[in-house]
Formats: sequence, structure tokens, C-alpha cells
Amino acid sequence: MTVRRLAPHSTTIFAEVSHLATRHDAINLGQGFPDTDGPASMIEAAARAMREGHNQYPPGAGVTDLRHAIAELELARTGLVRDRDSEVLVTVGATEAIAGAVVGLVENDDEVVVIEPFYDSYAATIAMAGAVRKSARVVLSDGRFRLDVDSLRAAFSPRARAVIVNTPHNPTGAVLPREDLEEIAALCLQFDAIAISDEVYENLTFDGVRHVSIATLPGMAERTLRISSAGKMLNCTGWKVGWVTGPAELIAGTRTAKQYMSFTGATPLQMGVAHALRNEQEWISTLRHSMQARRDQLAEILTGVGFDLVVGQGTYFLTADPRPLGVTDAASWCLELPGEIGVAAVPFAPFVEEFADEWSHLVRFAFCKRPEVLAEAGRRLQSLAR
Ligand SMILES: *Cc1c(COP(=O)(O)O)cnc(C)c1O
Repeated sequence: MTVRRLAPHSTTIFAEVSHLATRHDAINLGQGFPDTDGPASMIEAAARAMREGHNQYPPGAGVTDLRHAIAELELARTGLVRDRDSEVLVTVGATEAIAGAVVGLVENDDEVVVIEPFYDSYAATIAMAGAVRKSARVVLSDGRFRLDVDSLRAAFSPRARAVIVNTPHNPTGAVLPREDLEEIAALCLQFDAIAISDEVYENLTFDGVRHVSIATLPGMAERTLRISSAGKMLNCTGWKVGWVTGPAELIAGTRTAKQYMSFTGATPLQMGVAHALRNEQEWISTLRHSMQARRDQLAEILTGVGFDLVVGQGTYFLTADPRPLGVTDAASWCLELPGEIGVAAVPFAPFVEEFADEWSHLVRFAFCKRPEVLAEAGRRLQSLAR
């Protein structure tokens, strides 16, 4: 009974794979969530907030202290000065920040450029706004995913209102280099479009690679909404505390939509995150090192089994090509895997639309799990080796 504009988005393969993983007691390397807690002091700060009576609605834009901590972090990370009252908005996860930005700032029939493969919520959100999705793509060159600049130029038109940028990139694990971001920025300036920049993995870059925000490129601070989330930064994906920073007029539109999506998020959880942003920066930077070690561990396992891999330099994810193992249909293979060997992974299919043919042979594995869990997944995967 879903409305036409959302019908194509009614089921997600993540839910299906996670359901199968639970049913078969499989190790879930499909959905990207960590299996260890964030900093203990963050959890204690949230619990204390609850006990101390911080259990009612926070201000519409989010707990003041958290907005303050976000504005300070923004200055430290990007050099951008954002006013904690008019230029910072706390949302129910990055998901709501993306939805609020698209619904609150894109008119019906305006175009929104996305880069395939893309995080699955983008397409659904664009459909909710009644906007038109235009796809560019990344290409694989020299073992790295890079932006296909020609496809990006082709996707922009005078009707383009926004481009959704995601770096470090889910599902590929790619960290877009500055040159790619410069291409996107140039088109934003040429067509007077805004950038909705999903940077939830901003802390998770490896091998010494640095994350660059498109908001820091010339002319872009005035036209970029920078989105992040405590979920990926602090191992608390279930808390759904996210935020968006940007110029006041873009935040105002986002806030108008957000106001009627959730009104506000959870006060004590926002207080816990504020505590962590102020006091747990070291924990946050250590996470990067442990995540890099897990990426290397899973890469070694998958290579040993016989997958072809594209090893990115960020996020929670590795891209694997299972064709060397005789797999011809990655999507149906992912549905069989949990039952057959007790490991779950997701195909690229839900991340692609227009360029589906180029990607549908690939599979995404999450490595944000404890080393012993990855090792057990490795033992189970071994039965696929030829
Ligand atoms: C996990 C994820 C999100 C959603 O973040 P929440 O804070 O859980 O809403 C958004 N974008 C990307 C690329 C993600 O991987």
C-alpha cells in the first residue's frame, strides 16, 4: 500500500540480510555497526543525565552544550566558524539531517545530483521531496575508486539545486581526493547548487590519508551543509545523534523540515555525546587505528579465500568481487550466504540505479567487528575457497 513515489524503496536488502543473519545465527558483516561500545564516560554521562532529570524535550536545535561542542569541533577540524544557535542543528542521526536538508531546501521537480554507488537513503529522501535524481558515478582506476568527472558534468544542469557528496564513501570505502571535490565544487558554483555533504566517516580514514571536507574549498562554506554523526564517530549507532553545520539560511530550511520529522532527539543521549566530544577526542582518534587494523585483518582473510578486493582508505567497508569464486549473481549469493556458511554480506545492488550493470557483481563486507569475530568469519568463509 506504499505510495508510488516510495514504492521502489519499500524494502531494503540490509533489513533482509540482517534478518537472515539473525535467523541463521550468522556473523553479520552486512550491516555496518560496531560490536563494541563507545567510551564508558559517554555512556555514564548519558545515564547520569537521565538520573538527574534531563528527560524532557531539548531546545529545537538540540541541547545547547552539544551545539557548542559541535561548533568548537567544527572550528578545530575545518577552520570554519559556525554559530552554535543559527548554524548548527542536532538531528536524529545523519539520516534525518540528510532528509531535512533535501525536504527543506529542494523544490518539487528540482534536480539533486548523487554519485553512484550511493548510500541508500539518498534516493528515498529525494523521492520524498518529489525531486528528480540525477546520477553521476565513480570509476575504478588503478585499484581505487575515483569520481568520473564526465558523468558528473553530465548530471548537472541549470535545474540542479543540490549535490549529495559522501566521503569517506559508503559502500566503496573510498576517500575522495581534493581534486575530485574541486570538480564537484566548480559545478556547484557554476550552477548555483548547494552541497549536502555526508561526512559520517570523517574520523575513519587510514594509511595516513586525510579527510577533506568540501565545505573547506573556496566558495563552498557558504553553500555546504556538512553532516556528521556520533554513531560512526563514537560507536553508538543506536543512539541516533547526528548533526549538520552550515550557513544560517541553509540550516533554517533544514530545521523547518526537521521540526516536523522528529521535532527533537533524545536529551540525555545528546548530553552524553556532548561530554564525549569534549573529553574523548583521544578515544576517537584511537578508533581510527583499531579500525585500520580490522580492515587489514579482513582484507587478508578475503584475499586468502580468493576474492578480488578493492581496499579503500576509509569507513567500515571493503569491496569484494566474488567472481573468482564462481559467483555470477552477487545479490542472490548474499541471500544464500548466511544459511550456507553463517556469514552475511550485502551486495552493491541497493546502492546503484542508473549504473547498476557496472556494479552488481560486487559485495560489501563490514570490518567494524572485534578481531575474534573477524577471525571466526574467516574460518567460516574458508569453505568458499576453491
Ligand atoms: C551510517 C550512515 C548514515 C546514517 O547515520 P545515522 O547517524 O545512523 O543516521 C548516513 N550516511 C552514511 C554514508 C552512513 O554510512
